[in-house]
Amino acid sequence: MNPVVTISGGGIIGNYISLRLDKSNIKSVIIEKSKGQNSQKENIRTLTLNRFSKKLLDDIGIKVPFAAIKNIYVFDGDGSGKIDFSSTEIDEDDLSYVVFFNDLYDQLQNQERHQIFFDNEIEKIAIDNETNTSEITLSSKDKINTKFIAGCDGRNSNVAKIASLNEKKSSYDQTAITFTAKCELDNVEDAHQIFSEKGIFAIMPVPKNKADSSHTIVWSVDNKNITDNNIENYVYSNISYFEKKLATKIEVNSEILNFKLFNHHFENYISDHIVLVGDAAHSIHPLAGQGVNLGFADADALCEEIADSYERSIYIDQATTLKRYEIRRKNMNLLMLKSMDFFVNLFGSKNLYIKLLRNFGLSGVNKTQFLKKFFINHAAAKNNL
Ligand SMILES: Cc1cc2nc3c(=O)[nH]c(=O)nc-3n(C[C@H](O)[C@H](O)[C@H](O)COP(=O)(O)OP(=O)(O)OC[C@H]3O[C@@H](n4cnc5c(N)ncnc54)[C@H](O)[C@@H]3O)c2cc1C
Repeated sequence: MNPVVTISGGGIIGNYISLRLDKSNIKSVIIEKSKGQNSQKENIRTLTLNRFSKKLLDDIGIKVPFAAIKNIYVFDGDGSGKIDFSSTEIDEDDLSYVVFFNDLYDQLQNQERHQIFFDNEIEKIAIDNETNTSEITLSSKDKINTKFIAGCDGRNSNVAKIASLNEKKSSYDQTAITFTAKCELDNVEDAHQIFSEKGIFAIMPVPKNKADSSHTIVWSVDNKNITDNNIENYVYSNISYFEKKLATKIEVNSEILNFKLFNHHFENYISDHIVLVGDAAHSIHPLAGQGVNLGFADADALCEEIADSYERSIYIDQATTLKRYEIRRKNMNLLMLKSMDFFVNLFGSKNLYIKLLRNFGLSGVNKTQFLKKFFINHAAAKNNL
């Protein structure tokens, strides 16, 4: 088998890259560790796509039900600071789009054009300088000769380990709790985010294909306040705090999922013919719902660079192609990661002066048109991050 690109990991980003390359007639194959398709699980977990990610999906014909967000209200539950964003301020119809993770995943994976090998993983990669390819040995002992190896295998990337790339990793000491709920907030196109001592609480509308639910909640809680065994208890004991802040009843109506939160970032995304993309290269706090959006921006840049190399010459120069990708994406991702860490630290602080500063900061930005526009454009992906 001689695909141009071998993709380790058939998650959202791995599947997108494969479909996108197919549009440029570039052959790829996906090696996925899990045993088979996800499908038919209850829709609980959501992703907030920015306008850029949605356009990338539209362009390859992927359509999933979504709930559009037109306004975002952010406030400090322990103080008076607040800031709001509206799509009208940037002359757009919407700021972002909530989709169910399973809907998007199934849509991407069920495309006929795919070649996916499940229950398999890359065991060894050896460069053959004569043919300018890499020979991959899979755990099934099958062999693949390929030009590029894209590591899209998530937070504990196997490909990054094989390439011995250096990682910086730290825990947020928080757990993200997520579930769907029924509630009667006035405007179905509003999202709210509350920073408080009970955690960072985001509530957003869900697509209409889950009839009994109106909203999704992503709630990040300090690990010192919960244990793995009392997460449900924590939700039911503390949700009334947010019900009061939002003046609505929030009726939990799904299983409560949880994810331990940490960030990681690789010093280099590339080594020989290998490249890291999406969560394999970086992961961030979900407070701004940007993780998969950074992955889509990575995937777009990588597919552009590979297609560009193909158009220019028959000889593929992997080092130059991948370096161009790394230059386009690494500092952008790092900037986002540092910004998220800044917010987590700012709102996690018990220091009185920092509390005053953040109240002043939020309300101050709300009154300063220039800064506000910058943040809205950024959230809606108009700043091209
Ligand atoms: C609670 C929560 C809420 C979030 N909300 C948002 C949001 O609103 N918006 C947003 O943009 N982002 C959000 N994110 C982040 C987003 O979920 C991730 O950034 C995104 O799913 C990463 O996609 P990926 O394809 O890069 O990696 P993954 O989804 O991790 O996919 C990796 C794939 O690789 C496979 N794999 C693993 N190991 C191997 C191996 N050795 N060999 C082969 N295959 C392997 C896995 O089985 C999987 O299929 C959220 C995250 C959390 C935890």
